[in-house]
Amino acid sequence: VTDHVHTVVIGAGSGGLTVAYGLASLGKPVALIETRHVGGDCTNTGCIPSKTLIHLAGRSDSNADAVLAAVRRRRDALRDKETQEFGAVANLRLISGRARLVSPERVAVTLPDGGERILTTRHIVLATGARPRMLAIPGLPAERALTSERIFEIDTAPRHLAIIGGGAIGVELAFAFRDLGSQVSIIDIAPRVLIRHLPEVSRVIEASLHTRGVALHLNARTHSYDESAQTLRVEQSGQITSLHDLDYVLIAVGRERNVEDLGLETVGVRFSTQAGIETDAYGRTNVRNIYAVGDVTATSAFTHSANAQGRRVVQQIAFPWLPLRTPEPFYPEIVFSNPEVATTGMKPEQIAQRYHPNLVKRIRIDLATQTDRGYTDEVHHGFIMVDAVRLTGKILGATIVAPKASEMISFFTLAIQEGISMYRLYRTVYPYPTFSSGIQKATDTFLRDTLTDLRGELSAYLRYRWFQRRGAASFASAIDRQARQS
Ligand SMILES: Cc1cc2nc3c(=O)[nH]c(=O)nc-3n(C[C@H](O)[C@H](O)[C@H](O)COP(=O)(O)OP(=O)(O)OC[C@H]3O[C@@H](n4cnc5c(N)ncnc54)[C@H](O)[C@@H]3O)c2cc1C
Repeated sequence: VTDHVHTVVIGAGSGGLTVAYGLASLGKPVALIETRHVGGDCTNTGCIPSKTLIHLAGRSDSNADAVLAAVRRRRDALRDKETQEFGAVANLRLISGRARLVSPERVAVTLPDGGERILTTRHIVLATGARPRMLAIPGLPAERALTSERIFEIDTAPRHLAIIGGGAIGVELAFAFRDLGSQVSIIDIAPRVLIRHLPEVSRVIEASLHTRGVALHLNARTHSYDESAQTLRVEQSGQITSLHDLDYVLIAVGRERNVEDLGLETVGVRFSTQAGIETDAYGRTNVRNIYAVGDVTATSAFTHSANAQGRRVVQQIAFPWLPLRTPEPFYPEIVFSNPEVATTGMKPEQIAQRYHPNLVKRIRIDLATQTDRGYTDEVHHGFIMVDAVRLTGKILGATIVAPKASEMISFFTLAIQEGISMYRLYRTVYPYPTFSSGIQKATDTFLRDTLTDLRGELSAYLRYRWFQRRGAASFASAIDRQARQS
């Protein structure tokens, strides 16, 4: 069967749904092809089950196995609702099957019954996402090896869960399963958890994990698993440590982009297994009518970034005459740990590449000692950290480690995007007592330091502002692109 549509979207996750819904609601006939479940990673194996688990496991009255069942029930209910809602959108045809590009205008879909359907189209949007990277552990039986795709399917909470990888996913699930009552051990080859964040962030999160009794094995790698004793052997500085009574090993060592068997080579779309599909800041691939959004690209690893990219692609396809001048926005990054970690704007390495260190002022406000809310809520660790240009107060980046940091970070994202300086944030009135009043403290510090030494600040600014570090180490293309556009 051959059908013609305006746009074919491959993958019904956060990115694909945004594009498909956006175009369909603008009257463009869209075919949305999904090989598994509507909602993709976020609804089925990512954000929704993990945040539901974190929420329910944190209740004092929670029964571990009942919580795991409730997570699945709530996840399935949302998936059913989304499937029904998207299935009923006018101009949107949801097709179950696996898609493959045959040419820049033709897509073949292998249907669940083995049949094939050919779609011809003007535009193609690739939104095939990513999957957990696997790690082979000698002796570990398949049924004990979990990834984020299977962890929400277990019926019984583990007595002891080993988590390989102390990144965002590993850390979030460590807190959640510890709250459920499981013994939890994190194993990471890095010297600290959340290695992509500032060392200050890792220190707070490690202290919090430690307080809760989560065992950390850092600078360590898995050696082997002994099924007869249910023991994982971990190698650390040449020494072997044994972790006993393990029910499961969760492998959370990163993600791989879904670029295989898509026909990318056939139509000449540039990609690599490492960085995914190459796109410009507007989601355009090197093939004129083919776009890519979400986890399958180099710059997105979140639902909100897939969504933001999707909206930009909708704009281009539906309103090609609108100017494309806005750079790709900064995407805030959150770790839903306890306390939460939220970052936005340029990363420290990006700042280091663009600005002389003497041009940037880093201000840190401790929640425990410098906010009354930290005192009332007995928050012992946590901070607000801002990197701003001296004198001008231009905000470059911010990190918040606090309860509900995820809700507070948009303040800084808005400020960075709209060029709202420290001076203007200073004029804002913050409710008392809140953690966000720490932002005012940060602006107080900035203004005090600047105004009490205006001459010194001015001369430092004039001296260092044109500095561009030559030959600095090249970053991953995604990071590079964001830095250039900022
Ligand atoms: C445990 C965990 C927690 C997370 N928590 C958060 C969070 O709190 N906040 C956040 O922002 N992000 C979070 N994420 C990340 C977020 O889930 C992803 O960034 C987001 O879902 C990516 O959306 P996407 O549309 O790019 O891809 P996906 O959601 O992966 O969708 C891709 C879809 O394409 C389909 N597909 C692939 N190949 C084909 C093909 N050939 N034909 C047809 N269909 C195909 C797949 O089946 C899939 O449904 C989390 C991830 C995990 C694993």
